[in-house]
Amino acid sequence: MNKDNNNEASKPKLTPVSALGEFGLIGHLTNRHVLQHPESVKGIGDDAAVLQPTVGKQTLISTDMLVEGIHFDLMYTPLKHLGYKSVVVNLSDIYAMNGIPKQITVSIALSSRFTVEALEELYDGIYTACRLYDIDLIGGDTTSSNKGLIISITAIGEADADKVVYRNTAKVGDHLFVTGDLGGAYLGLQLLEREKSLYLDNPNTKPEIAQHEYPVQRQLRPEARKDIIEILADKQIVPTAMIDVSDGLSSELLHICKQSQVGCQIYEENLPIHPKTFALSQEFKLAPTTCALNGGEDYELLFSVSPSDYRKLEGIHGIASIGKVVAAEAGTKLYVSGGKSYDLVAQGWQHL
Ligand code: ADP
Ligand code: MG
Repeated sequence: MNKDNNNEASKPKLTPVSALGEFGLIGHLTNRHVLQHPESVKGIGDDAAVLQPTVGKQTLISTDMLVEGIHFDLMYTPLKHLGYKSVVVNLSDIYAMNGIPKQITVSIALSSRFTVEALEELYDGIYTACRLYDIDLIGGDTTSSNKGLIISITAIGEADADKVVYRNTAKVGDHLFVTGDLGGAYLGLQLLEREKSLYLDNPNTKPEIAQHEYPVQRQLRPEARKDIIEILADKQIVPTAMIDVSDGLSSELLHICKQSQVGCQIYEENLPIHPKTFALSQEFKLAPTTCALNGGEDYELLFSVSPSDYRKLEGIHGIASIGKVVAAEAGTKLYVSGGKSYDLVAQGWQHL
C-alpha cells in the first residue's frame, strides 16, 4: 500500500508547489524534454505548440481525462505508474485507428496536498512512456483543484489517409482477431481493491500480491500495442475495422458490430486468457470468460480482417483468431463448447 503518496508529513524534504509557483513548476517538470520528431516545430514555451503535418497524412487526435477517486486510487497506484498509464491509454486510441502517435499534451489540476516531489514522480512515468513510445511532450496546462488530482492527456498522431481504420467498416465474412490476453487488468484491480480493504481494516496486514504480479502489472502498468501496428504495416495488412479494448471485449465487439451494421460469432475456447489471470479468477470465484469479456483496461486491439488477409496473420505470436463477422440478423453471439450460444452484453466500465 502506498499510503505515503498522499501523506506529506511522513516524507522528508518535501517541497510545496507554492515554493516554485506555476511557471517555476512547469519549467522544473518539463525542462529535460528534447523534441524528437521533425513534425514538432515548437513544443513547450509559447502560447501554442506548432506542428508541421507530413504531406499526404491525416492527423489523429484523442483525449482522455483521469480523475482521482473515479479512475485511479493513489492508495495502491504509484504516481510513476499513473503517469505512464495516463500516456499509454491515449496512445492506445491512436494505434486503434492504425496511426502512429507523435505528440502529447498533458494538463493537470492538483490540490495543495501534492508536492513537487510527487509531481516529479508523475512526470517520471510520463517521460518514460514518451521515451519508450517515441513521443514528444509539446504542451499542456497546470491549475489547482479543490480536491485530488485530475490528469487530461491529448495524443496527436498521423496515418496515411487510405490506412486509417474506423469502427464502422467491418464486413460480413471478415475474421476477428484480438491481441495479447484479456481479463488480467480487471482481476489485478480486484486484487488491489481487496488488499486495500484488508489494509484499511488492519494496517499490519501484509499485502499478498507478490504471486499475482502479472495481473497487477496489467492493471497498473499497461502497454499500448505499437508492436502490432508495426507488424500489420510490415505484412501490408489494413484491418477492415479496429478498436482498442478499454471497456471489455464484449462492449468493443458491440461497438464494431453496431457501427458496421453486422453481427459476430465468437468462440469461448479461442479467448486468450493468461494462466496467471486464470489462476486469480479461480481465487475470486469469478468465471475467467466473464473477466475476459467484461473486464476493462486491457488496452489490447480488437480488429477484423478480410478473408484474403487471414492467411498472412497465421503464426504471428500474440494474436488470437476469436471468430467471424456475420450478418446483423444472426446477432452478436458467444459460442461455448457443445455448441450452445449466448448473446454478448455490454457491461463495460460505467464511471458515469
Ligand atoms: P498560457 O498562460 O498561455 O496558458 P501556461 O503558462 O499555462 O501558458 O503554459 C506555458 C507553457 O507551458 C505552454 O507551452 C504550455 O503548453 C506548457 N505547459 C503548461 N502546463 C504544462 C504541463 N502540466 N505539462 C506540460 N506542459 C505544460
Ligand atoms: Mg495555461
